[in-house]
Amino acid sequence: MNVDYLEKLNAEQRQAVEFGITPGQRDVIPARPLLVIAGAGSGKTNTLAHRVAHLIVNGADPRRILLMTFSRRAAAEMTRRVQRICGEAMGANGRIMADALSWAGTFHGIGAQLLRQYADQIGLDPNFSIHDREDSADLMNLVRHELGLSKTEKRFPLKATCLAIYSRVVNSEAPLDSILHKVFPWCAEWETQLRTLFGTYVEAKQAHNVLDYDDLLLYWAQTIEDRMLADDIGARFDHVLVDEYQDTNRLQSSILLALKPDGRGLTVVGDDAQAIYSFRAATVRNILDFPRAFDPPADIVTLDRNYRSTQPILAAANSVIDKALERFTKNLWTERTSDDKPHLVSVRDEADQARYIVERVLENREAGSTLKEQAVLFRASDHSGPLEIELVRRNIPFVKFGGLKFLDSAHVKDMLAMLRFVQNPRDRVAGFRLMQLLPGVGPGSAQKVLDAMSTHADPIAALSTLPAPPRAGDDWSTFVNVLQFMAQGKTGWPAEIGHARSWYAPHLERHHEDATTRQADLLQLEQIASGYPSRERFLTELTLDPPDATSDQSGIPLLDEDYLILSTIHSSKGQEWKSVYVLNVVDGCIPADLATGSTDEIEEERRLLYVAMTRAKDDLHLMVPQKFFTGGQHAQGDRHVYASRTRFIPPGILPHFSSSAWPVVAVGPSGRPDAKQMRVDVAARMRGMWK
Ligand code: ATP
Ligand code: MG
Repeated sequence: MNVDYLEKLNAEQRQAVEFGITPGQRDVIPARPLLVIAGAGSGKTNTLAHRVAHLIVNGADPRRILLMTFSRRAAAEMTRRVQRICGEAMGANGRIMADALSWAGTFHGIGAQLLRQYADQIGLDPNFSIHDREDSADLMNLVRHELGLSKTEKRFPLKATCLAIYSRVVNSEAPLDSILHKVFPWCAEWETQLRTLFGTYVEAKQAHNVLDYDDLLLYWAQTIEDRMLADDIGARFDHVLVDEYQDTNRLQSSILLALKPDGRGLTVVGDDAQAIYSFRAATVRNILDFPRAFDPPADIVTLDRNYRSTQPILAAANSVIDKALERFTKNLWTERTSDDKPHLVSVRDEADQARYIVERVLENREAGSTLKEQAVLFRASDHSGPLEIELVRRNIPFVKFGGLKFLDSAHVKDMLAMLRFVQNPRDRVAGFRLMQLLPGVGPGSAQKVLDAMSTHADPIAALSTLPAPPRAGDDWSTFVNVLQFMAQGKTGWPAEIGHARSWYAPHLERHHEDATTRQADLLQLEQIASGYPSRERFLTELTLDPPDATSDQSGIPLLDEDYLILSTIHSSKGQEWKSVYVLNVVDGCIPADLATGSTDEIEEERRLLYVAMTRAKDDLHLMVPQKFFTGGQHAQGDRHVYASRTRFIPPGILPHFSSSAWPVVAVGPSGRPDAKQMRVDVAARMRGMWK
């Protein structure tokens, strides 16, 4: 056995990796919990991967290790690292052992996996389907209509708002009135109606045998409130390790504490300066209160050396977070010297911003760095529009994370609804969607069929005996045949998708001019599906972590292709790139207009900028358009507003940046174009127009 991998770590990282593990003493479970709390790029995730590997190398059973990360992508990356380290230490044997690391995923994914296993004991049907946010909003809407709320109550909150309120209450375990008062004051007058709506929504979910994202946590938390089940589930895992702990919510921390009440074998890592998910009810208190949740309290390891970024990038990021009102982790240092300060680039508008970035990206590619080593980050998914147009125009492939998903397109959703309905015929949202694809079937008749189906033990088989909707033609019997054929499992998985696809083809032709492109998407979907062992696993994993959209609309690019990364800052967590461009670093965007209501919200926006800046290894560009499109946040007239540099970079810290304007125009002392010069430029331009 070769433990050279320990040599590459610094003293604190090594302390965290080896904490509570005595070499040679097999099956040892660290007696005390461990918290690693440290700044960006200090090697937290790397340390966690080494710790998992070190556990395995020292005899821990990989099947009894539970590893929870922020995304499935992060979990897969972590598993790869663990395999590599185990391979280095123990050769092929080590890789095989690391392969058995089967409990690695997100809280939601692991929750879904456990709930299916324990379904019988908690009164759930193990075939439950999982609704994504859009399905949940559809169901909320359905219920809202059924209750007549949209008719009788003018100005009643929209379905997405209703869902946001509901989700906030569930995840923070706080009463409805206090959430309304604190977070959604403009909806407070509807408290009574919302209470009725949410009650009915919950009943509908149970009747349809569906769980939404929040339910996965809620049911999991409920399950382990039963001491026997908690002990049973807790006993399956000797070691529980969590990355990005600062972004967990109360439900997640209560799940963790119930799993390991004495903290034995528990390791969490995180950075309070990177807490950016409070809008999903995450609370930084989880990480700050972690040590004292146990008796004796958890051990704490802090790391203060950054291995990711150059010194000027780190200095600038530190200067931004230094002004934070409250923070536990200290400033970081690095040995990576460079003369290149982060660039603060003033541009006229978003079109120029896009052009500037494309120029730099191409320049870097000329100089030898790949597209994949560069990323463009933004506050909100709809901010990258002008850039996407420019990228397509210049033929630069890209993948967008955290924005529109491959699965969001209507035709892919239709196909998934078919699979979901076969898997769980009580899934009303799926059935409702499907039936209305048929000519002559409207919401009323779909509802009638679904009502009739729900009284039968085998709803799909019963379809042959139920009357067809009056205006549906032959399409109806074809639909029923295909459903029954799939439900009987005659062709098996994944071949059944072929049947669904042939059934669906005429609908595509009927409704879409670009039917051929859409057919190609569906073929792609079939290809993705063939990578999963069953329909149920495919649906679960896809709903929880859908593939991202790409520039050429053809699903997921092959691994060996080169493409630029576009990502929301939220989805960029934990990652790093050689060059990073951040869009719209202006007030109104970072911080967002909507987030300037309270100090807490503003502080979270500061951390968001910190997260964005600390993704960069060598090269960082913060873009400051003088004018930017607010995307409908301002109700009146021209939605282009004049913007100024974010308040998080006040004049005092400007020396940490190299300020410039592009295309080159005279720049005043504030870093903005000189007003007089601007007038001269505009005048010249106007004269030019009439020549
Ligand atoms: P974040 O807060 O952004 O999640 P992190 O603290 O998890 O960051 P990592 O992603 O684990 O940091 O590490 C950042 C970079 O530093 C990675 O490229 C990693 O390989 C490198 N790194 C970490 N520790 C060391 C080390 N001891 N020697 C050399 N490189 C290291
Ligand atoms: Mg990390």
